[in-house]
Amino acid sequence: MIVKTATFISSNTKVDKLPAANLPEYAFIGRSNVGKSSLINALTGNRHLAKTSQTPGKTQLINHFLINGAWYLVDLPGYGFAKASKSSRAVWEKFIRRYLSIRENLQCVFVLIDSRHEPQQNDLDFCRWLGEKGISFLLVFTKADKSSLAKANSNVRKFHQALLQWFEETPPHFLTSAESRLGCEQLLTAIDEINSN
Ligand code: GDP
Repeated sequence: MIVKTATFISSNTKVDKLPAANLPEYAFIGRSNVGKSSLINALTGNRHLAKTSQTPGKTQLINHFLINGAWYLVDLPGYGFAKASKSSRAVWEKFIRRYLSIRENLQCVFVLIDSRHEPQQNDLDFCRWLGEKGISFLLVFTKADKSSLAKANSNVRKFHQALLQWFEETPPHFLTSAESRLGCEQLLTAIDEINSN
């Protein structure tokens, strides 16, 4: 898929105020600082679409972007920000879990995981929760350019392995880099395929 247009539509703190659910929607989520904004910008070819920042955990908004007038790319606030208070974590959980549970046009959640690290408990727990809720998700390993391919692939394997304690089968994954655009075409093709089914 070629991204011809990527337009910011809205930022919401309330699930009731989201755009009408009349187009297929794909949500991007992961731990703060995982590289979500950078990847969204790389996918859309727009360096300024999603804000990239060195200060993790700032935005608690659901951002909708309209891609090619045909589908929504949704940027969700990151989880697992170490400095976040318990109460702000609880607010995040309620808000995001509500969105993911009720959004009827949500086709798939892309769970972003930093390919430099061994499986982290909060990423695994989040995948487990999606599985329990029956929400489709795919794994997106980020920042592949930051470590050797062997190391990244080893972490990917370990993540799949860890998921097998709860899942009979693990979802497909993409190994990506916002720097080199590794995996970006494949990810857009996956969205294309879901859209055309
Ligand atoms: P977010 O908090 O998940 O939206 O993360 P950002 O996109 O703001 O990225 C966090 C930091 O990681 C920034 O300094 C980015 O420049 C850096 N970063 C993100 N993706 C990549 C990548 O693919 N390669 C490299 N080398 N750095 C990245």
